[in-house]
Amino acid sequence: MPLALRRRHFLVGIGGFAAFAGRSAPARALPPDSAWNDLKTRLNGALLQPTDRGYLDAALPQNRRYADRLPRGIASCENADQVAICLHWSHENNVHPTIRSGGHSYAGFSTTRSLLIDMKHLKQIEKLPGGLVRVGGGALNRDVYAALKAIDATITHGRCDGVGAAGFLLGGGIGFNMRHYGVGSDLLRATDVVKADGTAVTATATDNKDLFWACNGGGGGNFGVNTSFTLATQEVKPVTVFNLSWSHRARDLPGRLLATMLETLRFAPDEFGSKISISAPSPTERRNGGDVHIGLLGQLMGPRQALMDILGPIFKVAHPDPVRSEDKKHGIREMGYWDAQTDFLSEAGGAALYQEKSRFYGGKLAETAIGTALAFARALPGNSKKPSEFKFFQTGGKMNKRAPTDTAFVHRSSDWLFDVEVNWDATDVWRDVEANLAWQAAFHEAMGDYMSDCCYQNFPDPTLGRNWAQAYYGENLDRLKAIKKDFDGSGLFTFEQGIPVG
Ligand SMILES: Cc1cc2nc3c(=O)[nH]c(=O)nc-3n(C[C@H](O)[C@H](O)[C@H](O)COP(=O)(O)OP(=O)(O)OC[C@H]3O[C@@H](n4cnc5c(N)ncnc54)[C@H](O)[C@@H]3O)c2cc1C
Repeated sequence: MPLALRRRHFLVGIGGFAAFAGRSAPARALPPDSAWNDLKTRLNGALLQPTDRGYLDAALPQNRRYADRLPRGIASCENADQVAICLHWSHENNVHPTIRSGGHSYAGFSTTRSLLIDMKHLKQIEKLPGGLVRVGGGALNRDVYAALKAIDATITHGRCDGVGAAGFLLGGGIGFNMRHYGVGSDLLRATDVVKADGTAVTATATDNKDLFWACNGGGGGNFGVNTSFTLATQEVKPVTVFNLSWSHRARDLPGRLLATMLETLRFAPDEFGSKISISAPSPTERRNGGDVHIGLLGQLMGPRQALMDILGPIFKVAHPDPVRSEDKKHGIREMGYWDAQTDFLSEAGGAALYQEKSRFYGGKLAETAIGTALAFARALPGNSKKPSEFKFFQTGGKMNKRAPTDTAFVHRSSDWLFDVEVNWDATDVWRDVEANLAWQAAFHEAMGDYMSDCCYQNFPDPTLGRNWAQAYYGENLDRLKAIKKDFDGSGLFTFEQGIPVG
């Protein structure tokens, strides 16, 4: 990467972070204690307040970066009627309520200092006729796994146990099945929603169809409180899963390997799904001779030999590291579908401190882009106890078979979703964290020369500045704003990157 380019990108990055640090979420004065007591009575006691046992567990978000924003009250709703009580109370008390299911918003969009509507008790999952399943608005990925395993069916899902089905589906939902079945929301057939005025409706392709369209990728927390999602389940097929990594000595190997992976895999059949991860060594690791490592994780709905044929051109560049036989989470294995998800592919995704920035792109990635990306990875400025990395989630396949305006999920022409992730630990030196965040902003900016400006709405990025809505929703933004006006004209559901009223 030319030095001038690098300097320009680093400066933009630092400016971007400074801009973020100065921005604050919309705030309104909190209602008096008497109003909270009144809400507690109306909810038959189902309101947790800061001095209550269990409050902190329920209050903390998964991204602990936002752990200083804790709710004044947490309504533990068990049904749509209790949700409606919260919304009426919010109107009466001039409160913007915040909804939480899994609490895994990257940007802390399910945190608030006011009223949190906690959906985690609505986690029932019910099998319906016609291959449908109704998933409660507070169900987590792990609940969905257990319920679908029991009926030998699947959907497009992620890998992290604690992610909420609601946030996942409302923002699209990507996973290894998406190239075969479409994104998670492409399987949505109906959703029950408590609207801002407290009334409950069912939205489908024919009833409340604008609301249904918006709930297919228009982002969580915008149009109402979704109390259930009805999804078309898919046939479970045996899979060959893989988790491979490459350590190496040759300096030019990562570039050749990454270029071959990106170019080979984008032509793989739709039954194939993958994620490529490239670690960024810290300054101390580099001083000790460390370099980037490349990892490849995913699944093929098919036999081992078919996978070997797909990966053949990659293995010609370099063979992956050998795997010890007792290592059950690495290597290549033929497995039953759900055993593969729970025992090989899934991750806990517990509390962490991080920020991610993404970009979709399609076609062949230029050699200079790969060179730039690796140069950034080899220049991570700050040490941290947590590793940082960049990743490519493989998209394409059935995900691209629908038109961008068919549903609110607009991203229908990519082969990969690029993402750069900075992680840190509570005991890290803040100067190092800031340096790594500036590095991330510069890295993301540099990739803009080769990739689209479209970002994944389920990886919300608080540093996107004024362009966030265009980046997440593109040509669907105007329709989303109009639907927001119809369903929440007073802007009850308002947050930093909430759809504005059109
Ligand atoms: C460890 C980890 C792994 C991930 N893996 C994947 C992955 O594989 N694929 C993928 O696509 N994404 C993935 N994500 C991103 C994830 O899909 C989004 O962060 C998603 O929004 C999280 O949903 P949630 O319910 O857990 O989050 P929350 O923080 O509870 O909610 C996210 C947003 O949706 C709103 N919301 C929540 N519940 C409701 C509801 N019932 N009705 C209306 N609005 C609601 C919230 O107000 C908030 O704005 C991952 C995130 C993490 C942290």
